[in-house]
Amino acid sequence: MATAMSVSAVSPAAAAVARPRTLVCVPATARAPREMAAELAAAAALGADVAELRLDLLAGFAPRRDLPIILAEPRPLPALVTYRPKWEGGEYEGDDERRLEALMLAMELGAEYVDIELKAADKFMRLLSGKKPENCKLIVSSHNYENTPSAEELADLVAQIQATGADIVKIATTATEIVDVARMFQILAHCQEKQVPIIGLVMNERGFISRVLCPKYGAYLTFGSLEKGRESAPAQPTAADLINLYNIRQIGPDTKVFGIIGKPVGHSKSPILHNEAFRSVGFNAVYVPFLVDDLAKFLNTYSSPDFAGFSCTIPHKEAAVRCCDEVDPIARDIGAVNTMVRRPDGKLVGYNTDYVGAISAIEDGIRASQQTDPTTSPLAGRLFVVIGAGGAGKALAYGAKEKGARVVIANRTFARAQELGNLIGGPALTLADLENYHPEEGMILANTTAIGMHPNVNETPLSKQALKSYAVVFDAVYTPKETRLLREAAECGATVVSGLEMFIRQAMGQFEHFTGMPVDNENFRAITSSLDNPNTMKPRL
Ligand code: NAP
Repeated sequence: MATAMSVSAVSPAAAAVARPRTLVCVPATARAPREMAAELAAAAALGADVAELRLDLLAGFAPRRDLPIILAEPRPLPALVTYRPKWEGGEYEGDDERRLEALMLAMELGAEYVDIELKAADKFMRLLSGKKPENCKLIVSSHNYENTPSAEELADLVAQIQATGADIVKIATTATEIVDVARMFQILAHCQEKQVPIIGLVMNERGFISRVLCPKYGAYLTFGSLEKGRESAPAQPTAADLINLYNIRQIGPDTKVFGIIGKPVGHSKSPILHNEAFRSVGFNAVYVPFLVDDLAKFLNTYSSPDFAGFSCTIPHKEAAVRCCDEVDPIARDIGAVNTMVRRPDGKLVGYNTDYVGAISAIEDGIRASQQTDPTTSPLAGRLFVVIGAGGAGKALAYGAKEKGARVVIANRTFARAQELGNLIGGPALTLADLENYHPEEGMILANTTAIGMHPNVNETPLSKQALKSYAVVFDAVYTPKETRLLREAAECGATVVSGLEMFIRQAMGQFEHFTGMPVDNENFRAITSSLDNPNTMKPRL
């Protein structure tokens, strides 16, 4: 599957070069000097290594008056001073000479790093005339707000920046698709081998992984905001997420990469769950959100053994069946893969853990609330109505049928209900039919549509009146934990099973596939206990 464009595994030569760890740098973006100085202290308290002082964001900035305040000793963190002009994406609009003089003053006052744009680097070097303080490192930067050039063009850019006398190369580009980031990783790995200190980031949502995974390729630093809403570039994570959620301090050349492929994917709680689960067993891996437009292209590009496994969500679960080299027979029957694992021979194998997760959750929910025969599934012989005919719908329908239930499919698009009904040998209904569907007592209902999912929490797929016909109601939606459907079903006296339970169980299955280790149920549940808390940190894209 590897192509010339694919991200290669980090080479042993690169890995062998001892490098300091990638630093976490917090941009200070306040409008007033004293507030900016306070941001340095706040960044230090978060555990950051460096703070970037964005002088161009200061209102009425007067270098001789304000710099001594911002750079006052003792400083809580090393300072990276940037005075970005409008022509390079910043806010400074004045005379360039005065801008460069302010940067020189920052050097004199002891700034540990100064950032100068490639286009102004020669002029700045002439002004410095060899008098750069020894403790100050010069970052020469290039920003491309439109796209990410080819690997060859990026390599040329590195050479141009090095030729200015830069101590550290900085290249920031823009992703139009997630595969663009692979070229930045190639450049980072190349620079690591040549021992060229480099900051290489790809901006916007599709470039997000560059910010988390760059330590794997030896980047000098990565940026994390002080808090959400105070980013200095599109899709910058918070420093707290980099440090606590993605465990960035632990990411190195040998770290395996896992993640959730979806579109959208920012709402997923899988990164919180899997990163914590990996950390709890000391598994050297990181789990990130992959915002993917074209699944085949993504898998062809990130085809090295370092990209060791993927969860798959909307809208890629069905395409994933076609993209895997091998597919587990149940996942093939269901027609949806939610888990992909790269085997040692490089082949991608697809599984469906949604089906086991959902069905076992419903079985256990029934067993906990009703007297059942322990020798058979409590689903055997029951009428099981599935709303929805997408990936989750198929998984539930196949799973229930496997357990001996009589399955009925209801879907907004009736043709899809019929198609799935034909596959599993059950009748199909429209959503309107479902309102008056009551052939017998004790029916089980499973919602597998996104109806009722945050933020549309007041929506529900079936009226409360119709719910009275069901003994058990399951909702695949898990944000919020208690959907309107489940609340009303409970009020009607039904046994209810939350989608969070399915989420936890499908993730347990994925954990076993990813790590090859048996899951420790208690530990996993302890990790997931905070997931239905609205204050739980969320991965940000
Ligand atoms: P999918 O493949 O895109 O299928 C979506 C299904 O929902 C289709 O049947 C679609 O009907 C129906 N639908 C969507 N919007 C609707 C609306 N406004 N009114 C009526 N029907 C609507 O998605 P999926 O992967 O199956 O996921 C579906 C839901 O399950 C999502 O909310 C997802 O978060 C949840 N889920 C939860 C877990 C878990 O662990 N708890 C796991 C997987 C999925 P049409 O055929 O008419 O388009």
